[in-house]
Amino acid sequence: MTHQNRKVAIVTGASRGIGAVIARQLAAQGFAVAINYASSATEASALVVELRQAGHQAIAIKADVARSADVARLFDETEQQLGKVDVLVNNAGVLKVLPLAQHSDELFEQTFAINTRGTFNTLREAATRLNDGGRIVNFSSSTVALNLPGYAVYIASKAAVESLTQVFAKELRGRRITVNAVAPGPVATDLFLHGKSEEQIQTFARMPPLERLGQPQDIADVVSFLVSPAAAWVNGQVLRANGGLV
Ligand code: NAP
Repeated sequence: MTHQNRKVAIVTGASRGIGAVIARQLAAQGFAVAINYASSATEASALVVELRQAGHQAIAIKADVARSADVARLFDETEQQLGKVDVLVNNAGVLKVLPLAQHSDELFEQTFAINTRGTFNTLREAATRLNDGGRIVNFSSSTVALNLPGYAVYIASKAAVESLTQVFAKELRGRRITVNAVAPGPVATDLFLHGKSEEQIQTFARMPPLERLGQPQDIADVVSFLVSPAAAWVNGQVLRANGGLV
């Protein structure tokens, strides 16, 4: 069965956490979805099975976003199996909370390789491969505004993503492609929860006036809006989704 009219979305880092919920949401909206992952093959395959059983079109593609050759192949395989790409969601990311002075060379490089270069790699491919009228959603973080101790390197890697977003939106002039970023506050996923005590988690949960942690669905709903026709006039923006935290 062919799905000639189905629009195609790539979601990076969609094996787990926020990305998996975005993939589900976009599939439910009618997109054929490429679920990118780096190491969680079992989770990515299970998500593909779940989406196909629900009647959606989905494939899993292993690719390290930090590697430009992997990213070129991610687009190649998506085009071959699903068609030309309409939506790119740059969700893949890593966080290690550690004071700047304690960062090793390797940790600094890994954070920037995945969060910043990973976004750069997919944007560079998207420049020539995305259909006109497409949508790009990058991932920053509300920590960029909070400036919390222990987050310096992560924040720097995400501040760079905000800069890439704002300039790339202008560089795509004439293509009717919007480029925006979502900047979540704390969301209940491994990335946020790992290494934190229950007390630390509750402290974060009490910080926003809405007095809870974000859930992946809160963020998927924002992505869903940004890729929808309703967001056609939103371009080059960073949308903080954090319950009013900052
Ligand atoms: P998560 O639960 O840790 O999931 C991260 C995802 O990224 C996984 O699917 C992982 O896949 C993938 N990934 C990691 N390195 C990759 C690489 N090199 N290439 C391709 N995929 C890779 O994280 P999350 O909380 O959902 O975070 C999603 C995004 O939101 C990130 O950009 C993060 O910085 C941002 N964010 C999160 C929060 C929060 O509180 N959770 C707040 C602000 C911003 P594998 O398991 O296969 O490696």
